[in-house]
Amino acid sequence: MLLTIHELNKTFGNLQVLKDINLQVDEGEFVAILGPSGSGKSTLFQLIGGNLLADHGTISLNGEVINGKKGFISYMPQQPSLFPWRTVLENVVLAAEINGKPNYKEAKRWLEKVGLDEFENSYPIELSGGMKQRVSFIRALLSKQSILCLDEPFSALDEFTRLKMQKWLLSVWEENRKSVLFITHSIEEALFLADRIYILSKRPARVKAEIKVPFARPRNESLLESNEFFT
Ligand code: ADP
Ligand code: MG
Repeated sequence: MLLTIHELNKTFGNLQVLKDINLQVDEGEFVAILGPSGSGKSTLFQLIGGNLLADHGTISLNGEVINGKKGFISYMPQQPSLFPWRTVLENVVLAAEINGKPNYKEAKRWLEKVGLDEFENSYPIELSGGMKQRVSFIRALLSKQSILCLDEPFSALDEFTRLKMQKWLLSVWEENRKSVLFITHSIEEALFLADRIYILSKRPARVKAEIKVPFARPRNESLLESNEFFT
């Protein structure tokens, strides 16, 4: 198992948010976490990303406990946190590098793909919520870590743009065989993207069910392949 979460618990004061969470992500797997809003999904990701500490329980990556440690996973938070004093391109390039050198070509290629090439020299304050989400998404895609944790990455996008982003995510996932852990409150989106789905209860979140998606996604079917539709 790449990522193993064992008996994870988190309270804020008297408010218990996570209760005995157990979950695993295997290498190359695409796993969705589905749960009602306010259940504790983002809190779970903040724990995985090392921004918060659990009350008890462990988060392990390849067998190494990473509770409270940053930099082990690529984490796209629900609220995009871009560096306000850096341009769009600089924000993306921070994650895109080859052998330690910034890879401007790759960063620009992706900005163009998501329709933001004209904004590469803009600052985050000049962007809409959906644009910031796309910049934050590319930054996560281009980072080196083998596991990508995305917290409702497409929530601020219109349907059409969301379909495109889902397509890019699936193609990057297939090309690089990264593992993806994806939070959503859309059942449709979870079924469309994931190999497996964990369903959380309302607060305090527990894992209520684990579903192996029993049918193949239409990854290679005409909708995703059609350039007419996506360009
Ligand atoms: P979700 O992402 O599933 O919508 P969150 O993890 O954001 O849910 O929040 C779960 C609960 O924890 C909410 O009731 C929220 O108000 C509370 N919460 C989240 N972060 C904090 C915090 N830093 N301090 C206190 N309460 C928090
Ligand atoms: Mg959330």
